[in-house]
Amino acid sequence: MLLVSEPVLGDDEKSALCDVIDSNWITMGSRVDAFERAFAIVHQASYAVAVNSCTAGLHLALLAAGVGPGDEVLLPSLSFVATANAVVYAGATPVFVDIEAIGIPLISVEKAEAKLTSRTKAVIVMHYAGYVSDECAWRAFADKHRLRLIEDSAHAVGRARQGVFGDLAVFSFFGNKNMTTAEGGMVVGHDQELLAKVRLARSHGMTTSTVQRLNGKSMYDVTALGFNYRMDEFSAAIGLVQLAKVDAWNRRRKELAQRYASEIAGAEDDFVIPFQVESVSTNHILPVLLPTGVSRDEVIEDLRRDGIQTSFHYPPIHRLTWYRTRVPGVSLPTTEEFSRRELTLPLHPKMRESDVETVCHSLRRSVARQREFVS
Ligand SMILES: *Cc1c(COP(=O)(O)O)cnc(C)c1O
Repeated sequence: MLLVSEPVLGDDEKSALCDVIDSNWITMGSRVDAFERAFAIVHQASYAVAVNSCTAGLHLALLAAGVGPGDEVLLPSLSFVATANAVVYAGATPVFVDIEAIGIPLISVEKAEAKLTSRTKAVIVMHYAGYVSDECAWRAFADKHRLRLIEDSAHAVGRARQGVFGDLAVFSFFGNKNMTTAEGGMVVGHDQELLAKVRLARSHGMTTSTVQRLNGKSMYDVTALGFNYRMDEFSAAIGLVQLAKVDAWNRRRKELAQRYASEIAGAEDDFVIPFQVESVSTNHILPVLLPTGVSRDEVIEDLRRDGIQTSFHYPPIHRLTWYRTRVPGVSLPTTEEFSRRELTLPLHPKMRESDVETVCHSLRRSVARQREFVS
């Protein structure tokens, strides 16, 4: 089966794991420190705090930003549910905002402006598929309305030429992301005070770490309510290896995405491929919108029969059962159309050009078959 995504793991990761076992220090040690420093440099950020998931990182970022009960947070509904869950964990209310257009599935600044209230405290942008939201527009929006700006950067690991611009940006290293630590995340930014809050809350609000206590600071105090969101040394060891490779993998993703774009554009079948192929992106996923009137379920079934896995990004969060009843009455027409037509095709660095051709051939044949049947 050709999978939608696959981690790239090998001998370098195996030997990094063995080194951790040999060292006999397995959590929050020198590898976590080194991973944080290296990650901050690659992403042109001043500080980075490693955590055990992007979801945990988003939770800490919102708390550090002062988001709490009574506050509203603007965010896209076209995202993974974790983006909204983190807002609910913080005790605040998610306010879902529509995307710009089906060709630009990023939260819209104009539509966000229309949803501002006196309670709006922060906005979360999410860099769908790895296409980074408009830095100038969002910074201006946040500054004008005195909002905290948080980037859900789960899709944008390795965006080397674009430094972070939010008050905080949070990355994911889950197994299907552009690089992985199995489970893991990173909170980065430039504001020392905000990052210090994240660091404190990551480990129960304790003022010293185990390493520091080993080195002489024998006592600790607890000065904030914190959590156990720590990263372990195995994850950090794999992360260091993967970080050194992610740029090359992202370049390979871009080549494959461009190949998809030319294959699909040549099909003359009213497919929509979001974003311009030449845009700067980490190409985390390969979304296409099927022509209107084509049954997505049948396409999925046809591709599965040809040995090709597909998926969706995403069912709109405001339409999920848990959210529908708690945040009722939300209508986001562009998000809903995008979600109805979107299909995510396989894209990962282990793929060959011929795999792209196979997928596109199968996709075209499936759509043609449906059309024949209709006419
Ligand atoms: C994967 C993902 C997350 C959650 O990341 P975890 O590390 O699994 O917690 C959050 N937001 C988006 C957009 C994601 O794709």
